[in-house]
Amino acid sequence: MSVRAFRGELLSVQRDPLRDPEAVRHEPDGLLVVEDGLIIARGDYAALADRYASIPTEHLPGLIVPGFVDAHVHYPQMDKIASHGEQLLDWLERHIFPAEKAFVSRAHAASVAGPFLDELLRNGTTSALVYPTVHEVSVDVLFEAALERNMRIVSGKVLMDLGPEGLRDTVASGRAGSEALIRRWRGRGRLGYAVTPRFALASSDEQLRDAGALLDEHPDILMHTHLAENLRECAAVARRFPEASDYLDAYDRFGLVGARSVFAHGIHLSDRACARLAGTGAGIAVCPSSNLFLGSGFFDFAQADRHGVRLGLGSDIGAGTTFSLLHTAGLAYQAGIAREYSLDPFRALYLATAGSAGLLHIADRVGALEPGQEADFVVLDDAATPLLARRTRHAPLAERLFALQVLGDDRAVRQTYVLGERAWDRDGGT
Ligand SMILES: [Zn+2]
Repeated sequence: MSVRAFRGELLSVQRDPLRDPEAVRHEPDGLLVVEDGLIIARGDYAALADRYASIPTEHLPGLIVPGFVDAHVHYPQMDKIASHGEQLLDWLERHIFPAEKAFVSRAHAASVAGPFLDELLRNGTTSALVYPTVHEVSVDVLFEAALERNMRIVSGKVLMDLGPEGLRDTVASGRAGSEALIRRWRGRGRLGYAVTPRFALASSDEQLRDAGALLDEHPDILMHTHLAENLRECAAVARRFPEASDYLDAYDRFGLVGARSVFAHGIHLSDRACARLAGTGAGIAVCPSSNLFLGSGFFDFAQADRHGVRLGLGSDIGAGTTFSLLHTAGLAYQAGIAREYSLDPFRALYLATAGSAGLLHIADRVGALEPGQEADFVVLDDAATPLLARRTRHAPLAERLFALQVLGDDRAVRQTYVLGERAWDRDGGT
């Protein structure tokens, strides 16, 4: 049994501050006590110091927040980040599909999965919902690399029986591959499975129906896909599913909309779709850097809030331009303000941590630094650059946090801890 304590400034937001103004928890001089990777106590240092006086205590200068939870990211696209020239559908054809074909090779997939997870850790991300490719082996190598790093990763073989040559499965092979992976990985480490139809246009009706059946048969798994990202895509979905009342309904008809469903983007949603998302408990992974990079649009926070849609935050690498969910939080603010919506910095932190964790159904385990949760946390440095240091000096907490989101990125991540163990140290490597 190992017990250790960490002393520093603690900040977390366990519930959506939009609905619970008391959700922000902050100890300027706090203590986090960790036993075998789990948080067993948290509070003001002065209140807890006597009780844990005999425990080895590490002082962590900086702002300690929960490890970030990336609710939508594609690991096979890591090496295609910053690919020039097109919006979604052409970008997929020209840059992404050719790159994903190479993941038929275990060696190639493994050469990306490890560095991808290391890049997450460098950016303070300790949990993620990850797209692999259509290839079963692409999931195996990701899960193997996640096990080695003790990370909380949810993923599942991509289903796309209407995909291009080399990236196409069938209803039968998609089903068999998904079931084999669920059998192989269920209950191992901190891993979870998600049925992952690429998007409505990439699967036949039969495959979408089978994905719904698979979800139904396994109450412990998630459903992960894309929704209403780009206008041309939305028009093509409307043509393909003329009987559906909107894009979301195209999924709904196959049993793919429920409390375990995570939809990336949701830029162009009807009020009916928002009401249906909220009513079922399905969530949206908001991906502002990707939406700006591909010219997809700006997420409508006001519309989502009117209906009470559950939200998290995603990097959506490789259309996204940063692995940093800290910086993505700042971009979410910018996406909001483009539509005259002012995203509060504490709420942005919530979206990047407990909000995303809620979408992934892991909010009981991570995302808030609460006793009983796993000790995944990040030490942020609000003086990481000369400009950040100037902007945050003597600033109140909300201003410091906002400056970190707008001006910060991986440079502001001093350390990342996974289950109470240091997994990344900016000043000393891993
Ligand atoms: Zn995506």
